[in-house]
Amino acid sequence: METATSKPHFVLVPWIGSISHILPMTDIGCLLASHGAPVTIITTPVNSPLVQSRVDRATPHGAGITVTTIPFPAAEAGLPEGCERLDLIPSPAMVPGFFCASRGFGEAVARHCRRQDARPRRRPSCIIAGMCHTWALGVARELGVPCYVFHGFGAFALLCIEYLFKQRRHEALPSADELVDIPVLPPFEFKVLGRQLPPHFVPSTSMGSGWMQELREFDMALDGVVVNSFEELEHGSAALLAASAGKKVLAVGPVSLSHQPILDPRAASDDARRCMAWLDAKEARSVVYVSFGSAGRMPAAQLMQLGMALVSCPWPTLWVINGADTLPGDVHDWLSENTDADGVAHSKCLVVRGWAPQVAILDHPAVGGFMTHCGWGSTLESVAAGMPMVTWPFFAEQFINERLIVDVLGIGVSVGVTRPTENVLTAGKLGGDEAKVEIGAEQVKKALARMMDEGEDMRRKAQELKEKARAALEEGGSSYMNLEKLIHSSV
Ligand code: UDP
Repeated sequence: METATSKPHFVLVPWIGSISHILPMTDIGCLLASHGAPVTIITTPVNSPLVQSRVDRATPHGAGITVTTIPFPAAEAGLPEGCERLDLIPSPAMVPGFFCASRGFGEAVARHCRRQDARPRRRPSCIIAGMCHTWALGVARELGVPCYVFHGFGAFALLCIEYLFKQRRHEALPSADELVDIPVLPPFEFKVLGRQLPPHFVPSTSMGSGWMQELREFDMALDGVVVNSFEELEHGSAALLAASAGKKVLAVGPVSLSHQPILDPRAASDDARRCMAWLDAKEARSVVYVSFGSAGRMPAAQLMQLGMALVSCPWPTLWVINGADTLPGDVHDWLSENTDADGVAHSKCLVVRGWAPQVAILDHPAVGGFMTHCGWGSTLESVAAGMPMVTWPFFAEQFINERLIVDVLGIGVSVGVTRPTENVLTAGKLGGDEAKVEIGAEQVKKALARMMDEGEDMRRKAQELKEKARAALEEGGSSYMNLEKLIHSSV
């Protein structure tokens, strides 16, 4: 019988820019450990408790996972102390400094990996790097071990990105208002507007084109891609990507299923406890959950239209608002007059101005639908919970994910957004009008009604996918077997 120590040692270095990369990569570490492989997850001091608490929840006996902390040189890059994720930097002007500090962090991690190489039980057998850790390839080659990347995107979005890099159709567009055809999954037809393309193809990110080129070269030289997905979900996208990119593409998810969704009351925040108690008082499938991920922030005027729809629609709503502290005073006043922040059992619209326990919420029997920004983590968590969606993409690859949810999987209704929202990486560079309202309250309510009242077919399809998602991670399932492949290809 194989013992834990006869299995390869995985070193995982999540991209520290966003919680939404740190959480799923930690979950991948937990899944590898549950297959008996020793795992080290390397992160920064501020992010370490996040990783450690997740590891403790998945492996109560501490089996097989070490969390190693390496300092993040924030001060050397001119960042305030503790700015160890993009959501923690006080201004978009500090984005280049963040990337500079992240490079310094990478160099320190590389030195650490080289030192570990001399210690038989600690030497890395495989490195899985977060999407921007381009330094990882050099160190993997020096140590003679495989290097995989985790992008945080789904296989379909990665396939579209690969196609666009190769075919360069976007370059011939007369304007960003024209549609780009991305025929990667016939017979489905995919078209997105030029301005809805992922940042790789929008010449306006704060990271610059040189950095994008470096990321592309990193991608092309890697041994493989680890994806938070399962093969039954994306209509063969992983295999098509593997064939097109000439590397392994292993779907090992949904990684959120590595944890029990039930909230641990001892570890839960006050906000989390409030959400769950409020949901407990609601009827089955009656609630709309509204959240736009870890970074999605709407212009105040747009947020007001959404708010007016949520308080006047027939369903109770649980609404997570990011960056609530930056909203103008009149919006604060409106929120305190029209919504509930205390979790009063009979209230109509509960607002959370912080971090909500999303996986536990989606799994709660009272929740009947999810209004989402189509971040890939949220999309998969929704699929794993069998939940239909109203799609409201913001930026990045989210417009592509929307097409998958609505057109291919048939489990979502588009609210109808056409313009990406400004964000920390594109601040002020998309030419958008901050005050512009694209989606009015009535349009929001129509989309909600289609999901909550007329969505039986979507709900059925979502439930079928939920079953397939669970089966994928069970012994012999597609994601289970891909984890085994990852382990065996790293021996
Ligand atoms: N999330 C959460 N609570 C919140 C907001 C987000 O647990 O209040 C989690 C969510 O469950 C998901 C991640 O944060 O795992 C967001 O990832 P996603 O890829 O959907 O979006 P991003 O944050 O990258 O835009």
